[in-house]
Amino acid sequence: MQQPVIIYNTLSRSKEEFKPINPPLVGMYVCGPTVYSDVHLGNCRTFISFDIIFRYLSHLGYKVRYVRNVTDAGHLESDADVGEDKIAKKAKLAQVEPMEIVQKYTVGFRQVMEVFNVLPPSIEPTATGHIIEQIEMTRKLLENGYAYEVNGSIYFDVDKYNKEQNYGILSGRNIEDLLNNTRDLDGQEEKRGALDFALWIKAKPEHLMQWPSPWGMGFPGWHLECSAMSNKYLGSHFDIHGGGMDLIPTHHTNEIAQNIAFCGKHPANYWVHTNMLTVNGQKMSKSLGNSFLPHELFTGLHPLLNKGYSPMVVRFFMLQAHYRSTLDFSNEALDASEKGFKRMMAAYDLLEDLSTSDQSTSDIMALKKRCYDAMSDDFNTPIAIAELFEGVRIINSVKAGLETITPEDLEALKQLFNSFLFNIFGLTKDEHAANNVGKVIDLLIDIRNNAKANRDYATSDAIRNKLLEIGYQLKDSKEGTTWSTV
Ligand code: AMP
Ligand code: ZN
Repeated sequence: MQQPVIIYNTLSRSKEEFKPINPPLVGMYVCGPTVYSDVHLGNCRTFISFDIIFRYLSHLGYKVRYVRNVTDAGHLESDADVGEDKIAKKAKLAQVEPMEIVQKYTVGFRQVMEVFNVLPPSIEPTATGHIIEQIEMTRKLLENGYAYEVNGSIYFDVDKYNKEQNYGILSGRNIEDLLNNTRDLDGQEEKRGALDFALWIKAKPEHLMQWPSPWGMGFPGWHLECSAMSNKYLGSHFDIHGGGMDLIPTHHTNEIAQNIAFCGKHPANYWVHTNMLTVNGQKMSKSLGNSFLPHELFTGLHPLLNKGYSPMVVRFFMLQAHYRSTLDFSNEALDASEKGFKRMMAAYDLLEDLSTSDQSTSDIMALKKRCYDAMSDDFNTPIAIAELFEGVRIINSVKAGLETITPEDLEALKQLFNSFLFNIFGLTKDEHAANNVGKVIDLLIDIRNNAKANRDYATSDAIRNKLLEIGYQLKDSKEGTTWSTV
């Protein structure tokens, strides 16, 4: 822990020095996906942003227990506790078990995270795996007087809570404002107040996912799972709670109310929120129909895309914006990121064969400090990347003989690039290497064709056999030679 980390806290609406409750341990909870459909690129942006925070704090020596849940029950079509359960609805349409929907999209989500090289969290708990904890929390909230029962459903009493606490503490809005902006919705007659929300919902007999409880058969409200699971795995007061900023007004506001009413403690010291990925200025979302699936971006098979981009180019594109700024999706911005990523990786490759001398013309230690300063200032990846490009400039100048570098500084520069590119930014060379392998094989095919034309069959056979030995098979046809992996 070489330097203080500054973090923007939504709760205080200001930057604060990060001070863990029990250093070097850090507890971090991030709201995960609702697994009823494929994750879109906007969701990925949020999870990549928290991956960076997880990686950077770990890199500095903190031991982070990172909990990211999977919502596999209880998320209704509307945040106002009306409509169908999203997962059950999909299961009914597809005529499968809800848990088949959950399995399919959980597996899909994990695959996408792996492709983006997002590290798995320390614990990935599910709502359905914690029904007992949620019933217990509901029971305690009733006992503490912050909840009431109507016909087998239990609601949180916001009005009563707000008399003692500030319900709008996270959004900075007062309850009158919030009430003025609440629509009267059908199916809410059971609630005493328009801002009240369900902790436990009585299930109709045909509801597909329901559990026994002291109040009859039912299922938990969406906000409850995060309060119950963060409390179980990180305790009643932990370090960081995060999610996309669209979760501030309802989901996170209600989580805080539940936790405080449950045990009198505010759950987290720092609330961290990521800004939205937008398309033409509008939030990318499933319901707006403007969302890209990751594979559409990789293949380029989407009407808004000119071509495909590799996962690492997309990751690099996301890191070129600060997590608290919106990031607008465009072909031009992705093209620029692709160029930048290639330039960065090409410079990294050059590090191995730079010549050294007894003097450095650039101050590598100052560069290193600026990179860490940027990351320690609220995880400012765009500034850190801009600083690394200064490193790229130095590498290219040394290679061209315009600048010099000492062996110690070269070692420090290598370490800096390794730490930042691979450990902190979580980039991989795979794509870059795969592209290069393709180019090298194409080159070998050309050489082999020339050898064949010159009847040098020994050389042409040697190229084919050697490539096969290392896992690449050449296929000759009238159209020419193609290759594939074995
Ligand atoms: P959901 O599965 O819709 O609950 O979303 C999972 C996470 O993705 C939440 O933290 C959301 O705030 C976040 N999210 C949703 N849409 C976007 C977006 N367009 N850009 C960034 N994050 C998003
Ligand atoms: Zn949550």
